[in-house]
Amino acid sequence: MPPLTIDDIPVAGKRVLMRVDFNVPLDDGGAITDDRRIRLAVPGIESVLRRGGRLVLMSHLGRPKADGVEPALSLRPVAQRLRELLSDTAVRFVAGDCTGAAAAAAVTALGDGEVVLLDNLRFEPGEKSGDPDFAARLAAFGDVYCNDAFGTAHRGDASMVAVPAAMGDRPKVAGLLLANEIRYLADVLEDPARPLVAVIGGAKVSDKLAALRNLKGLVDVILIGGAMAYTFLESLGAQVGSSLVEPALLDEARTILQGPGRTVSYYPFDHRCGRAISPGTPVEVFEEIPDGWMGLDIGPATADRFADMIAAARTVVWNGPMGVFEMPPFDAGSRRVAQAMAAATDDGAVTVVGGGDTSAAVERFGLAGRFSHVSTGGGASLRMLEGRRFESVDLLDEC
Ligand code: AMP
Repeated sequence: MPPLTIDDIPVAGKRVLMRVDFNVPLDDGGAITDDRRIRLAVPGIESVLRRGGRLVLMSHLGRPKADGVEPALSLRPVAQRLRELLSDTAVRFVAGDCTGAAAAAAVTALGDGEVVLLDNLRFEPGEKSGDPDFAARLAAFGDVYCNDAFGTAHRGDASMVAVPAAMGDRPKVAGLLLANEIRYLADVLEDPARPLVAVIGGAKVSDKLAALRNLKGLVDVILIGGAMAYTFLESLGAQVGSSLVEPALLDEARTILQGPGRTVSYYPFDHRCGRAISPGTPVEVFEEIPDGWMGLDIGPATADRFADMIAAARTVVWNGPMGVFEMPPFDAGSRRVAQAMAAATDDGAVTVVGGGDTSAAVERFGLAGRFSHVSTGGGASLRMLEGRRFESVDLLDEC
C-alpha cells in the first residue's frame, strides 16, 4: 500500500513537522549552485500553507565534521532561497539551533500559514546516531509528521526513522515529492508498460551489482555502458586496453546477467577512447581497444543501437552515465541516450532518470524537463532499483 500523503489529511491550525532534503550543493562562497531540491519541495510546502497549516521544516546539509554549529554548513542560504520562492509567506530561520530554546520558541510562536526552518540537523550528533531523546524533542514540535526527503529516504537518521517512531498515534504522512518519487521508481518496476528497458552505466560494477541482480528477470532489456561495461567485456574475453576494470568482479560479471529469464543484456561493441581521462587527450573509436587506450564512452554505433532499443520501449529507466560525460567528446553516448529517451517520452513512453550523475548529465544537456521523472535522489533511487524497502517510508501511515 502506498503511504498517505500530506494532501490526504486536514492541516488547518496544525503544526506539520516536515523532513525535507535541502542538502543542496554550495560554492566556496556559500551560494547555492543547484536549487532543484528546494524548488521541488515547494508543492508539498504550499499544500500545508494554502490550507492554514503551520510548518516546521527540518533538513541536513552536507557533512559537518565536528559536533556543534559549523557556519559554512548553516541552512541560512536555503532560508533565503525559500523566502524568494514563497514570496507571500513569513519564513523564520532559527540560526544555529534545531531542538534548543530558540527553536522551541520559534515553533511556539508559529501562526497559521507561517514557516519555521530549523538549522542543519547534523549539527546535533543525535541526528546521525538516531538518538531517541533528540528524536523526541523534534517530535514534540509537530501534530503531524511529514517525510518529503526522498534523497535521504534510504538512511536511518533520527529525523527519518526515530522521529516518526516517536510520533505515536499522531499522523505520519508522505510529502508530495516523496510520493511522486516512489510512484515513478517503484511503480515502473512493479507494473510497467513493456518493453521495459533499463540503461545502466557509471563508474563501477560494484556499485550496481545489487541493482543488476534485481533487474535481471524483471526488465526486458538491459543496456550496459560506462566504465562498468569494461569489467563485463573483459570477463567475456574482449580486448579492453587500459579501460577501468574491477578484477575482483570478473567471475561475478561473467555470470550475473546470464541464465534463464526474460532479460536480454547488450554491451557496447564500439568505444570512444582516449589515452587518459584528461581534456585534450587524443580520441579514437575502436571495436577492440588496443593497449594504451581507455574506453571513455560508448562508441557511435553502440549509441545508435541503444537509441533504437530505447525508441522501441514503452518504459525506460536510466541510472549511470554512458561515459565521462563531464568531458566532451566523451559525453556523446550519454547525450544520445538522453535524446532518445526524450523522444520516447514524446511518443508516450514512461521515462525515469535516477542517480546524481545521470541527473546532472541530463541537466547539462538541457533535457531535464523532457522525461516523465528525474529523481532528486542518487543513493535512494539506486536502492529502489535494487528492490529495497525503506524503513523511513514503511513507518508512514498507509492509504
Ligand atoms: P556513477 O557515480 O557510478 O554513476 O559514475 C559516474 C561517473 O562515472 C562519472 O563521473 C563518469 O565520468 C564516470 N565514467 C563513466 N564512464 C566512464 C568510463 N568509461 N571511464 C571512466 N569513467 C567513466
